[in-house]
Amino acid sequence: MEKIYYTTIGLEIHAEMNTKRKMFCDCINDPFHSAPNQNICPVCMAHPGTLPVPNKQAIENVIRVGLAIAKNGANDGLGNIANFSEFDRKNYFYPDIPKGYQISQYKNPIVTGGHLAGVDITRIHLEEDTATSKHSADKTLIDYNRAGVPLMELVTEPCIHTAEDAAKFGRGLQLLLQYLGVSEANMEKGEMRVELNLSISPDPKVFGTKVEVKNINSFSAVERAAKFEIGRMKMLYEAGREAEIVQETRGWDEVKQQTFSQRSKENSADYRYFPEPDIPKFYLHEMFELDALKNNLPELPQQKRDRYKNDFSIKDEDIESFVYDRDLALWFESVCAILNDHAKIKTASNYITSDYLGIKKSNLEAKLPSVQNFAELIELLSTNQINSRTAKDILLVIVTNDQSPKAYAETNDLLQKNDPEALKKVAQQIIDANPNIIEAYKAGKESVLMSLVGQIMKQTNGSANPQMVLEILKELLR
Ligand code: ADP
Ligand code: ZN
Ligand code: MG
Repeated sequence: MEKIYYTTIGLEIHAEMNTKRKMFCDCINDPFHSAPNQNICPVCMAHPGTLPVPNKQAIENVIRVGLAIAKNGANDGLGNIANFSEFDRKNYFYPDIPKGYQISQYKNPIVTGGHLAGVDITRIHLEEDTATSKHSADKTLIDYNRAGVPLMELVTEPCIHTAEDAAKFGRGLQLLLQYLGVSEANMEKGEMRVELNLSISPDPKVFGTKVEVKNINSFSAVERAAKFEIGRMKMLYEAGREAEIVQETRGWDEVKQQTFSQRSKENSADYRYFPEPDIPKFYLHEMFELDALKNNLPELPQQKRDRYKNDFSIKDEDIESFVYDRDLALWFESVCAILNDHAKIKTASNYITSDYLGIKKSNLEAKLPSVQNFAELIELLSTNQINSRTAKDILLVIVTNDQSPKAYAETNDLLQKNDPEALKKVAQQIIDANPNIIEAYKAGKESVLMSLVGQIMKQTNGSANPQMVLEILKELLR
């Protein structure tokens, strides 16, 4: 019998905060500045005698994330925002950290507790980002533009059990940060970085030895790296070599699609954390109007999901498309306001999330038409003035050449010809031209009639109502 292994995953996620200035100095926060070492000053370059001054905006950003995840879960209120908080020095030597320590937070983070998408949050704290290093064969170049940029770190409880859920949580957090406007949170650019902590165990009551996986540049890589690591550990267990699973930091190699050992994991004692003596501890409930910050949070992803479900009753899958694309969602809401009818709104949602987004994948020129023109298209379709084939054709036109679908349909003779007399004439012509088919039909093969419907549709440029055509044919052949 195959043995079962229980997977445990906890995440540590860093996100660069969207602020004007760096965390402890007045330098511009622009880690992607094209020329290296432009946004630097004696403070972020660690010259002797300089003093750090915390950036209040960065602290406020982290508080707003804390309030947002408190609001979504059971932890309602301001309870997860610390009464007081402080910075600590995390000591280690590396050229990308000019002081020889990083100012971070250890014992008293800004946020403790909260929930997001079914995952328990341990803490959220603030620290400073490191410089970026560019390694080449014979040298390493260091760009300090990023050194001292405010960096939020969120740590989850070890309560995630699949690779898919780990990636899903990452996506959910990214979306939340973007809704709050606190971070661009682009994984590819390194504005958001996900570190996996992962262990497996044959006993659900005992954690296995955990490894940490770094250098992951996308959510799909989060999933792939976790799957790889679970597989590697299983393989070691199965071979009786579980002793080789050691607490270590591993890197993710995107080319080889595998993890590799980087270094054995230091534990917190190695960092010799101690309170940053140059920054007094700070009292968050006094420094900030927490109630006001909470009341002024924008609509969050989950609230939007709930609202779309209530107001528009569209498919969950469609709702996700809108939740992940805020411009599209705003546009769609204006369309809904015009249509003002559940059935029409459902049709509109369908045409946007499947047809329009489908067109966009292959045609980079495609743009959303005006709200009015799109609503008009849905009206024509919903009132049977055009059929769905024509609607899709017109959509294809208006996404590159925005115009009134009604006028377009009139000019191109696409409005459904639901005039029975006119249709009868066309039907009779087709009947006369197809004696063999008529014979088959009269011999009892009813399905052959559909080929005549097809011919009539073609003859009328697709503008006939197919149901009506079928009825007319039957009537003429009776
Ligand atoms: P460390 O001191 O090694 O940094 P922490 O206790 O701070 O460890 O936890 C770091 C992350 O690892 C957290 O996200 C936590 O949920 C996760 N974690 C802790 N133990 C395990 C485990 N046995 N398996 C998987 N993840 C774990
Ligand atoms: Zn500076
Ligand atoms: Mg830790």
